[in-house]
Amino acid sequence: MALRKPVLAGNWKMTKGPTETVGFFADFLNAWMPRDDRTVVFFPSDVSLAAALDATADRPDVLLGVQNVHWERSGAFTGETSVGMAADAGAKLVLVGHSERRHVFGETDGETAKKVRAVLDGGLIAVLCVGETIGERRAGDAEAVVRRQLAAVLPVVSAQEVERLVVAYEPVWAIGTGETASPADAGAMHRVCRDALAQAFGREAGDAVPVLYGGSVKPDNAAELLREPGVDGVLVGGASLDPAGFAAICGAAAG
Ligand code: PEP
Repeated sequence: MALRKPVLAGNWKMTKGPTETVGFFADFLNAWMPRDDRTVVFFPSDVSLAAALDATADRPDVLLGVQNVHWERSGAFTGETSVGMAADAGAKLVLVGHSERRHVFGETDGETAKKVRAVLDGGLIAVLCVGETIGERRAGDAEAVVRRQLAAVLPVVSAQEVERLVVAYEPVWAIGTGETASPADAGAMHRVCRDALAQAFGREAGDAVPVLYGGSVKPDNAAELLREPGVDGVLVGGASLDPAGFAAICGAAAG
């Protein structure tokens, strides 16, 4: 799947059960008509994935994913979901290493790498999230942190699998805070990601990996972020919960 056309992705976090999910898609699919010059993705809660799949059954242009997986195939891991189970339930993509997984649940770089490996083994697309905290940025370590997070994972991805990798640069200080990286700062960090991808996979294969920006993207700032060279799309939390607002963000991409 060629994903390096604008990717507009909504991460619903721990919101919207099945009933709200059905209501959301009734409104969103009215407001958003299929376009083949961009890719629209939602990451609902696992318990709402079946409802989302049903609600989008006539809209193959809308892809669905899960927000987290375990790296094991099955077993005594109460509360966890395996890649195989997510795929069976209709997920095509998996978020890995979201800042809330790293900073709220203590997920390490090593665990993030194991999850990416499991996602690729299971045939799905991994959306690898990276980004620095405010302390790391103030200390001048933003680039080093993002390089470290990428270096922990890229070696487990083979050249044949790189087409199933997406990177999302999400500065932790911008997630859910209303603060957004300036387009220039986002562009600079996207170049860091792009360089790491080129080093790992070569320029051509590295260039084919979409690099998304995430962190308080809203209908009124999406267009300028998406205009920044190297920003291939956006990963949106809060503003993806509103059907009209998210449809406006999807429409903001230049295509
Ligand atoms: C996110 O959850 O990945 C995110 C970027 O959230 P928000 O858009 O609310 O900052």
